[in-house]
Amino acid sequence: MIIAVIGGGAAGFFAAIHSSGPGIRVLLFEKSPKLLSKVKISGGGRCNVTHRPIEISKLVKNYPRGEKFLKKAFAHFSIPDTFSWFESRGVSLKIEEDGRVFPKSNSSQTIVNCLEDEARKLGVQIQVSNGIKSIQRKDQGYILITDRGEVAVSKVIVASGGHPNLGAYDYLNLLKHKLIKPIPSLFTFNTPQEPIRELMGVSMGDAVVKLEGTKLSYRGPILITHWGISGPAVLKLSAFGADWLHEQQYRARAIIQWNADLSEQAYSEQLTGYALLHPNRKVYSHPLFGIPARLWEHFCMQADISEAQLFGQLAKKLQNKLVQCLFCYPVAMQGKTTFKEEFVTAGGVALDEIHPETMESRLHPGVYFAGEVLNLDGITGGFNFQAAWTTGYLAGKSAQRS
Ligand SMILES: Cc1cc2nc3c(=O)[nH]c(=O)nc-3n(C[C@H](O)[C@H](O)[C@H](O)COP(=O)(O)OP(=O)(O)OC[C@H]3O[C@@H](n4cnc5c(N)ncnc54)[C@H](O)[C@@H]3O)c2cc1C
Repeated sequence: MIIAVIGGGAAGFFAAIHSSGPGIRVLLFEKSPKLLSKVKISGGGRCNVTHRPIEISKLVKNYPRGEKFLKKAFAHFSIPDTFSWFESRGVSLKIEEDGRVFPKSNSSQTIVNCLEDEARKLGVQIQVSNGIKSIQRKDQGYILITDRGEVAVSKVIVASGGHPNLGAYDYLNLLKHKLIKPIPSLFTFNTPQEPIRELMGVSMGDAVVKLEGTKLSYRGPILITHWGISGPAVLKLSAFGADWLHEQQYRARAIIQWNADLSEQAYSEQLTGYALLHPNRKVYSHPLFGIPARLWEHFCMQADISEAQLFGQLAKKLQNKLVQCLFCYPVAMQGKTTFKEEFVTAGGVALDEIHPETMESRLHPGVYFAGEVLNLDGITGGFNFQAAWTTGYLAGKSAQRS
């Protein structure tokens, strides 16, 4: 049996490795001259391989697209399997405080080497600079039209990754799978008209960001940058709001609650209580609620509170304005910026045409899909690679089986 794997990325390598077996010839085709190039640059060169082990029901909540599909897939290969797979091949992993998992070496090259060594050991035949131009059904198998000619194979695993242009999926046309238009996910919000941009570098450790006009609301750190707002809460919002924001052409209003634990009423009550205790303190120079000094001063200015204003004489109207800044600060988004070049594509091959437990096409027996070519994507934190390992594993194992 000959199994062709299309794509030399994380999902393609995992699929090739797990489809190998006695009497099986595995051919891996990579159109570029380089293998595992995203793994190499991922996680700032450290490769955030997966996330801290969590229950599957919680894990799937990190996938804006593919939640239900992955729930079934993760039942077969999940985070603990990723740990044991790499660790049993000599790659020690470490869990960081925020749950991200990296190789102890702090180098993505460790992961690249592990995958390449394993594939080589199993006899996977790798062809770089040989892209697939089309896939055609022939008798019981498939014919691949490659840059270097035709190849007849028994089965095909498609692991060609995501791409922002629909044209990149043209080579799959003959399979007639439904494609969901690719759009970007994981980006920061540009806010060119907003004065808070002047506070670049200021961050809040636990805030809430909402998208006005939607029910989307995410909690986590927020960072003010020189072009807008960023940080895990914003990235999460960008991923879960990817479709809606795309429809709005990235013009929307984000509402920030700067301290996630405090309600509007709690802010008011605590300000009133503080004024009773410290009536002669200047509002301007006494930031409360864990708000950094520069941000607090900015809120005072927005609320028309002068530098000399004392807490004890703060008019209700001005206090209310301050509470509004703290509880529901509006930020006009105009455009987006890719997060540290760590972009992920939402969209791709529609999941309802794929079996979630085998990754086999429901339209073509013997054709499997794995990784970001599918309409699934995760937020930052190692979730995208986890999806690539899981779907690659399942595609490989299923192709090997029958
Ligand atoms: C800068 C950056 C940093 C990232 N960091 C992280 C991280 O730390 N943790 C995390 O979980 N996720 C991270 N991601 C996301 C993660 O890299 C991807 O989700 C993951 O690489 C997807 O794997 P894949 O194998 O499906 O696709 P890819 O890695 O994109 O691999 C697909 C391969 O297929 C090849 N190909 C395409 N078409 C053809 C064709 N017709 N014929 C032959 N070959 C073809 C491509 O050249 C490519 O090499 C990062 C992404 C970027 C861009």
